[in-house]
Amino acid sequence: MTTTRFAPSPTGRLHVGNIRTALHNWMLARKAGGTFILRIDDTDAARSREEYVEAIRADLTWLGFDWDREERQSGRLDRYQAAFDALQAAGRIYPCFETAQELDVKRKIQLSRGLPPIYDRGALNLTEAEQAAKRAEGIAPHWRFKLDQAEPIMWDDGIRGPQKFDAAQLSDPVIRRADGSWLYMMPSAVDDIDMGVTQVLRGEDHVSNTAVQIQIFTALHASGFGGEGAEAGTLPAFAHEALLVGREGKLSKRLGSLGCDAFRERGIEPAAIIALLARLGTSLPIEPIADRSVLIDSFELATFGRAPAKFDEADLERLNAGIVHQLPYAAVAGRLPAGMDAAGWHAVRPNLAHVAEAAEWWRLVTGPIEAREFQSEDKAFLEAAATALVWCNNPWEQLTTALKESTGRKGRALFLPLRQALTGMDHGPDMSELLLLIGETEARARLRQSAL
Ligand code: GLU
Repeated sequence: MTTTRFAPSPTGRLHVGNIRTALHNWMLARKAGGTFILRIDDTDAARSREEYVEAIRADLTWLGFDWDREERQSGRLDRYQAAFDALQAAGRIYPCFETAQELDVKRKIQLSRGLPPIYDRGALNLTEAEQAAKRAEGIAPHWRFKLDQAEPIMWDDGIRGPQKFDAAQLSDPVIRRADGSWLYMMPSAVDDIDMGVTQVLRGEDHVSNTAVQIQIFTALHASGFGGEGAEAGTLPAFAHEALLVGREGKLSKRLGSLGCDAFRERGIEPAAIIALLARLGTSLPIEPIADRSVLIDSFELATFGRAPAKFDEADLERLNAGIVHQLPYAAVAGRLPAGMDAAGWHAVRPNLAHVAEAAEWWRLVTGPIEAREFQSEDKAFLEAAATALVWCNNPWEQLTTALKESTGRKGRALFLPLRQALTGMDHGPDMSELLLLIGETEARARLRQSAL
């Protein structure tokens, strides 16, 4: 049974990068008929905000991702305490008393010597008495997880292939602050165990976190810490996707703030975002595929490349037009101008890049239209058209066939004055659909008006 999770921190709105992570985890779960969990990573009480939790839910809903289970880290603090106790009993957690400044100085010295800024485990050298003295001074410790440096950390990454980390090249992570609050690293592993997460798919900025978390998982399993996954003693499968970059190939600030509101305001359909993000960075072709099941069925981690995925807004616009051309009336009815029915939508749909543009084309039906100036020859032709118009199930076809015969006009000379007289425009939706919508009386009136 596949279980995936999307784990945003509610410290801001979702942006295109985390929308992509959410989508991929949702697709993995849906493809396997598994479970998709929305996990709100809100252990940072100072930065987490309820309004962001609501906005995350609203954005995911707008995008059409449903989740089977919602969890909040702030409601699971007792589990983190239990895990902490288990790791402490196993000797894998130690108290540290360095101040932020002291750590900063250590790092600067290491860097100036050309050394990597790895924590020197200075706190491990403190005797019990020294620790007690620090506490007596009123200094509360923060806590680090002690990495096991004996063996390399290895996993077979679903996208990056075999991975190998030397724990000695990593700092023992701080997992708990001096005020007792939790940092991301351990709660995430505890949740993945408790919730039976089978597949962790996230950005490659998390690769070194995975190395650390594999040791946390293993230490928790070894300490008998329970959970659906722990019973089996198995670790989730990990996969890290290359980051999303702007068109120019750089990590862009703009992408970090581009989210659902901006897309919605620009008339971008959720289906266009999904069609793009489902395949960006993979070897599959990016096409305006509106049917999610097609995207889900073809979704494969093996198709992902290692190069950064380039997000190009021009691609998104192109896909959006392709998606809009396929949208059924029922999907857009609430967003169309008053009076526009299914036939109206069908007539204008091929001319739209965004649904909102339907209103501009609908004005050609409801009027008033732009009055055009015609040469006397065209005026006579339009007068003949007003007379020749016969209402039937395809009056446009009837009219143009009759005029072709009676006037000998064809091509542009036949069609353009009619379109201009009937719509005020040189181009636009298919005239046979449009004429039916304009209606007999109004059409004849427009032709007569142009002939004056
Ligand atoms: N809250 C973390 C983040 O947004 C979750 C990372 C993870 O998927 O484990 O980066």
